[in-house]
Amino acid sequence: MKPRDIPEDLLELEVLTSRLKQRFKGKNLIADEAARQRAGYNGEKSIDYFLTFLDKKAYSILNYLRLCDEHGAFQLDTLILTPSFILNIEVKHVSGKIVFDSMKQAVRTNTDGESQYFNPLDQVHLQRLRLHKWLMNHGFPKLPIVNLIVYTNSNCILLNNTDDPLVRKTVIRKESLISKIQELTQIHQKKMMKQEQFQHLITTLINKHTPLKRDLMGEFGVKVNHLRQGVICIECSGSPMKWNRGKWFCAFCKNISNDAHINALYDYSMLINTEITNRQAREFLQIEGTRIMHRLLKNMNLPEVGKTSDRKYNLAEFRQREMKKRM
Ligand SMILES: [Zn+2]
Repeated sequence: MKPRDIPEDLLELEVLTSRLKQRFKGKNLIADEAARQRAGYNGEKSIDYFLTFLDKKAYSILNYLRLCDEHGAFQLDTLILTPSFILNIEVKHVSGKIVFDSMKQAVRTNTDGESQYFNPLDQVHLQRLRLHKWLMNHGFPKLPIVNLIVYTNSNCILLNNTDDPLVRKTVIRKESLISKIQELTQIHQKKMMKQEQFQHLITTLINKHTPLKRDLMGEFGVKVNHLRQGVICIECSGSPMKWNRGKWFCAFCKNISNDAHINALYDYSMLINTEITNRQAREFLQIEGTRIMHRLLKNMNLPEVGKTSDRKYNLAEFRQREMKKRM
């Protein structure tokens, strides 16, 4: 199983949103994308609960697979594989009313009024096409690929206006996911590959996974001077908190913290660099004393290289641990 790791760019978008100065022009755009991605991630996570009911020996689950072909990259939210068939699950976490109409559109109506909505049936159709070809190009037999679009938001109403059989077959709510998988398992009983080849397929898919690398600062034209410096208060988002006698104080809401600098260093590691010197840390956290900064960094047990003023603290592992906490 390939676990559903949280996408790095989602976490970066969230840090960027909290760090950008209010007057930065693209801030709302970035905040919206962060919120949209977080909702999508939560939707995907919500199907994991149902998937725990599947027999782990019978089904292999790969999450967030991103594969490359001659057209670029394509991403698959959740693949469930058996030697008999592949299930391609696309998760949609949206609210409102979604009408699949006679024009093959999926029209979504929410509180903002009617907005035409990109049909996920076209999306999964293309995914299947590309995955089929990908499997063929990597020497695997043609396994049946079944598409499924799973709506996860309980505030969402689905309407199949023309009783389109493709919609009926493909679009479900998360609560019916397990019975749907059981039904498909009944239909697809013929083994298309031997266990050994099936294992090779799983390994190949995992090895060919190409994570998306985005340079968000570059993409949105963000420079370091667009970012708020200092320790941000977790209670009121005010900054900078002031260090005084071993604690951080917020002048806006009077919040007191022992370790608010941890979040700030995480932000630094996400946006600026995974290495930091004492001077850089003082600058970013807006702390004056070299010895205080030295003590704070020492207490974090970070790997270090170099001596005295050249010493660099490595934030890479710390960053990974902090990312897990935000899943
Ligand atoms: Zn505060």
